[in-house]
Amino acid sequence: SAAPVTVLGLGAMGQALATAFLTAGHPTTVWNRTPDKADPLVALGAVRAGDVTAAVAASPLVIACILDYASVYETLAPATGALAGRTLVNLTTGTPAEAREAAEWAASHGFAYLDGGIMAVPPGIGTEQAFILYSGEREVFDAHREVLERLGAAHFAGAEPGLAALLDIALLSGMYGLFSGVFHALALADSANVPAAEFVPLLSSWIGAMATAVPHMAHQVETGDYADGVVSNIGMQAAAFGNLLRASEEQGVRPDLFTALHSLMQERVAGGHGAEDLTGVVELLRNRA
Ligand code: NDP
Repeated sequence: SAAPVTVLGLGAMGQALATAFLTAGHPTTVWNRTPDKADPLVALGAVRAGDVTAAVAASPLVIACILDYASVYETLAPATGALAGRTLVNLTTGTPAEAREAAEWAASHGFAYLDGGIMAVPPGIGTEQAFILYSGEREVFDAHREVLERLGAAHFAGAEPGLAALLDIALLSGMYGLFSGVFHALALADSANVPAAEFVPLLSSWIGAMATAVPHMAHQVETGDYADGVVSNIGMQAAAFGNLLRASEEQGVRPDLFTALHSLMQERVAGGHGAEDLTGVVELLRNRA
């Protein structure tokens, strides 16, 4: 029979997680600060725990998905004794440093800990599109992998507890960068009254074509050789980028999302790297660390 699991936090995401476990037949115990959020899950067969300690005691595997790390500590402070000998998988979004601190907190109380980063929106949980990053002890991950796969593909990011949060944030950076470009593009097209039906197919196909450059860029960053396979040098691109900013101003579109990138490109050219690839801006970004 399927392993019992406890879900703490029944916001939009916690409800989706608990639903996926219930759908897969796992005996599921749930707890939320505001208890009535458990109602739809109880209707699906979940057990509503009266308090956090009872919720933790119900299962060897406890999943937390609450607003932030402060609320995780607040929630679990009365239940650290009950957690001893069990596994806490914290799917609450945080920073790598917060994840490392939580791993130390778990070790000091004698329970196993995995930190996780959910790469999905609530309706995606339990579907093909969802994947979740995990970091912490490999044996702990392996022991619970089958249950965790109910939520979406489980990707082990590494033993260092902060890695899942780091990759989560790196992937979100890719997403927000993409969205920034899309927002600017939509504003420009709209400034000329170009219908979405005409513009969106062009934008989607262009983004797809450009995304094929990512592996080569990653190779350049790994080797530090930004002259490798240059097709469009950064000197030319920095000049062309000036057009992007001027055209935006002319159309009444705020250039804010792109001025920072333009500055980095100019800095790179001024540093004598004009014949190299655009990817060299990564050198400037990581020098800030
Ligand atoms: P919601 O805003 O829907 O829910 C927030 C949850 O946190 C509620 O259960 C709320 O309880 C609880 N909570 C807040 N403060 C406290 C506290 N001090 N003590 C106890 N419980 C508290 O958020 P989501 O469910 O969407 O998000 C939960 C986590 O999942 C976040 O860390 C989020 O970043 C992450 N996540 C969310 C994604 C999404 O698309 N939604 C995607 C990937 C990750 P109450 O009902 O009592 O208010």
